[in-house]
Amino acid sequence: MTANSKDGDLRERARRVIPNGMYGHESTARLPEGYPQFFASGEGARIRDVDGAEYIDWMCAYGPNLLGYGQPDVLAAVEAQQRRGDTLTGPGPVMVELAEAMVDMVSHADWAMFCKNGGDATSMAMVTARAHRGRRKILVGTGAYHGASPWNTPVKVGVTEEDRAHLIQFEEGDLDSLADAARRAGDDFAGLFVTPYRMRTFMDQTEPDAEFARGARRICDEAGALLIVDDVRSGLRVARDCSWETVGVRPDLSCWGKVIGNGQPISALLGADIAREAAGKIFVTGSFWFSAAPMAGALETLRIVRETDCLERLTAIGEALRAGLAAQSEAFGFGLRQTGPAALPMVLFEDDPDFRLGYAWCAAALRAGAYLSPYHNMFSNAAMTEADVTRTLEATGAAFEELRRTRESLLPPPQLAPRA
Ligand code: PMP
Repeated sequence: MTANSKDGDLRERARRVIPNGMYGHESTARLPEGYPQFFASGEGARIRDVDGAEYIDWMCAYGPNLLGYGQPDVLAAVEAQQRRGDTLTGPGPVMVELAEAMVDMVSHADWAMFCKNGGDATSMAMVTARAHRGRRKILVGTGAYHGASPWNTPVKVGVTEEDRAHLIQFEEGDLDSLADAARRAGDDFAGLFVTPYRMRTFMDQTEPDAEFARGARRICDEAGALLIVDDVRSGLRVARDCSWETVGVRPDLSCWGKVIGNGQPISALLGADIAREAAGKIFVTGSFWFSAAPMAGALETLRIVRETDCLERLTAIGEALRAGLAAQSEAFGFGLRQTGPAALPMVLFEDDPDFRLGYAWCAAALRAGAYLSPYHNMFSNAAMTEADVTRTLEATGAAFEELRRTRESLLPPPQLAPRA
């Protein structure tokens, strides 16, 4: 943000006391110029930055906002549990109720374990898969994101080769490549990680693919390895069940996070009976993993997901945005590639190899009040209304207009230049 703004002041102070001023996926380092780093509040579909500007937020905290920021029923459940007791010497009854609710909702699941972040759940899944038959090799899609631990971080600084010694990569969605990886794992093949569809940054997304899913299931069954679906990002925006239920394939383990407490810090590993014994043998825990308030928030979130049409609404909202953007881009003479499930929309420009069009377009939409991402899939939420889509399209319309004028003078985004 500009100098003499609260955001600018906070960035300045942050640079002194936080390495690089910010880290991780919520750092604005790769976003276009003008994106605020700090936010004061969020309500429903909107976020307000520290300088008072309000945006319709299509990033939803990178996923967790499923029902709207501060959804009152979830908040009430959390606050009531906080008053009764949250982080105590033992878990509350709500832990059992939540495990029952998740097992009831997710077809493949016979048991549940809770943790804090998606990466906790994926790490637990990996260890469970290895514990299952005492094998070591874990198959992962090239470039697929499963967290930021030494075994799966995309940035290898501070990580040894040994940390990743037993990972074997395959091309996501490519059965031949998967079969080859499984052959290389041989009788040491412990588990296969998949995201329900390809959801990489800066790339077109795919949709769940029945043939690939069935092939993955068969390959795991033949080898006696566990099939793990990482539903941390896509969970509850594709189905009220594991996302691969939409293509009729059930994993042995599934990883959940982000949405399950509508923003409360809670994630989960769900498993089928085949993996119960292994999951019971591993040691996993954390000071806050048993806290009752986020569990109460998750229980209420799941109730709303079950009992309302929130999934249909956030899908319809995503479809409305997609249709509006398609019409606008055509009218303004730009080609857009809109991919992925409607509730997790990815928007990239045709003929934009260095992303200069996408970056300029998002920066202009931000100035007009819509918070979009030029490189990450976005998220709709159930608090969004048709009016929010209309407001967003006004912002993107203004952005297309500006792009048409400035197109010839745009430069590649400096944020994307290779680091020295
Ligand atoms: N898996 C997937 C598919 C994700 O998108 C993410 C987070 N973006 C994770 C795992 C890790 O989750 P967390 O950041 O909560 O640890």
